[in-house]
Amino acid sequence: MVAAAKTRDNSTAGNTKTILLLPLGDFPKSDASLLLQRLRAVCDNVRLLPAEPIPRSAWYNPRKRYRADSLIQWMARRAGSGQVYIGITAQDISTTKNGHADWGVMGLGFQPGKACVASFHRLHARNRQDEFFKVAIHELGHTAGLPHCPERTCFMRNAEGGNPTGEEKEFCKNCREKLVAEGWRL
Ligand SMILES: [Zn+2]
Ligand SMILES: [Zn+2]
Repeated sequence: MVAAAKTRDNSTAGNTKTILLLPLGDFPKSDASLLLQRLRAVCDNVRLLPAEPIPRSAWYNPRKRYRADSLIQWMARRAGSGQVYIGITAQDISTTKNGHADWGVMGLGFQPGKACVASFHRLHARNRQDEFFKVAIHELGHTAGLPHCPERTCFMRNAEGGNPTGEEKEFCKNCREKLVAEGWRL
């Protein structure tokens, strides 16, 4: 992984990628603006794109939901150099995982990658905005090259099929250092 070899000096400052927030389908504007604000607090270049219909090609009819991996591939094809897409959706999304052909997830991001996706379908309604930020920052962490982290309170913790966002407080020291080396302000 390239990030691990970088140092924390200022030579990497300002090198953050542009993060493009893409609402997919019917997505509440207030949730999109709040996520935009919270991401702007830690990443330099974050832009909210106009909403687009969620691509029908990602629909998985047997379970009546959308394939997260197809959505990622669709966005990754559009990403220019230095750009990372994060699709945000209210729809349920799934991927092949843990021996299941179609496993519902809160989010998915390739490590590293040019796109990821976050859904608030599985989040607790009363705490949706906070949990959604944690899912989004976790997936963006993957796109920046971070693997899952053993620390229970770290944003990069493996959800393991559940929703542990209530226990997640911040990036642990180890994960934070890798992201700072990528230009994040943490
Ligand atoms: Zn993950
Ligand atoms: Zn960590």
